Amino acid sequence: ITPPALSVFETLESEVRSYCRSWPAVFDRAQGSYLYDEDGHTYLDFFAGAGALNYGHNNPVLKRALIDYIERDGITHGLDMGTTAKRAFLETFQNVLLRPRDLPYKVMFPGPTGTNAVESALKLARKVKGRESIVSFTNAFHGMSLGSLAVTGNAFKRAGAGIPLVHGTPMPFDNYFDGTVQDFLWFERLLEDQGSGLNTPAAVIVETIQGEGGINVARPEWLRALADLCKRRDMLLIVDDIQMGCGRTGPFFSFEEAGITPDIVTLSKSIGGYGMPMSLCLFKPELDIWEPGEHNGTFRGNNPAFVTAAAALDAYWSDGQMEKQTLARGEQVEQALTAILDEHGGEAIVSVRGRGLVWGMEFADKSRAGAVSKRAFELGLLVETSGPESEVVKLLPPLTVSPDELDEGLRILARAVRET
Ligand code: PLP
Repeated sequence: ITPPALSVFETLESEVRSYCRSWPAVFDRAQGSYLYDEDGHTYLDFFAGAGALNYGHNNPVLKRALIDYIERDGITHGLDMGTTAKRAFLETFQNVLLRPRDLPYKVMFPGPTGTNAVESALKLARKVKGRESIVSFTNAFHGMSLGSLAVTGNAFKRAGAGIPLVHGTPMPFDNYFDGTVQDFLWFERLLEDQGSGLNTPAAVIVETIQGEGGINVARPEWLRALADLCKRRDMLLIVDDIQMGCGRTGPFFSFEEAGITPDIVTLSKSIGGYGMPMSLCLFKPELDIWEPGEHNGTFRGNNPAFVTAAAALDAYWSDGQMEKQTLARGEQVEQALTAILDEHGGEAIVSVRGRGLVWGMEFADKSRAGAVSKRAFELGLLVETSGPESEVVKLLPPLTVSPDELDEGLRILARAVRET
């Protein structure tokens, strides 16, 4: 018999749930940069739905567009039928993002969430090249389904599969802040030496900044060298921009800073704008080789998400303001984190690193990041940890955060570090 005090979360929901353990509250409402729980507590949100809420909670512009759409009985289901909402999204995507950047991509809607986009990218690259192996990088995170898990570096997450994960080839990631600068000479040697067992992979998949892996920032020149290697060695380059895209690092696509044009790009999280599931796989037109129906699924066109996605692109990306604002706010974060670093010294804090509005603070005592996140929660700030041993406190405020809100959150963070 279940004691009445035990909540339905404990009695009914699977043990696999984790965020409710790090943040023991029952959240009820949210607006802008703030969340409110059912007991009346307020939390400043520097987690932003793991990057799915770049425009904040219940953004009024997107909310209006969504309410109007629902009130006029707009189509709500998925599939890939032609709808006015999808047409408006595609036209906006082309006019606001692709054309001004001279990006050549075709757009595919692979399913509701990030891992669907990654699976489709891997599957397409293998079909195009007729090869099975995909190169990925140490500490990469690309999703929890079997294909994307096979190119994910985290041993704990991989173990959840229960079976060996195949056809992924890991390589060391560049880590600018770590000073471990990688080049590709040895990779080229392996490709040349067929006796090494590394038959030419179909593709390389990379994040420009590893979000789940600990905010590891690749240098633009490393990304350019990688793109060049892929071209020379006939491998497709997939940039997984699911967490770092949609303006998180400043420009809409995180790879813009390096000046590369990947063959395939995956987007999800904030592309829908309002926190509704949506993902995209972009690829160069010559890769559009699937026959109709060869890659299918029910929820491949979330029409309400098309509406909010188009409204977000219109409102925030038709001029260069969002990028400038994000980079300016990023400087504010960098200054505050550097002050915390100075206060505690390099022995306690290994480094602070990031770009735009994604920042990490790595602690020498690996368990301290979790303690800081816990204390921050008690003080009314949501910040997640990341990295292979959860040793990094990760800051991901909404891009719409105000300078005052940033100050408030950074002050709470400084206090949480002091008190742990
Ligand atoms: N790729 C990257 C870079 C991610 O950060 C994530 C999620 O955190 C994913 C893929 C998987 O996305 P989803 O959790 O929506 O399946």
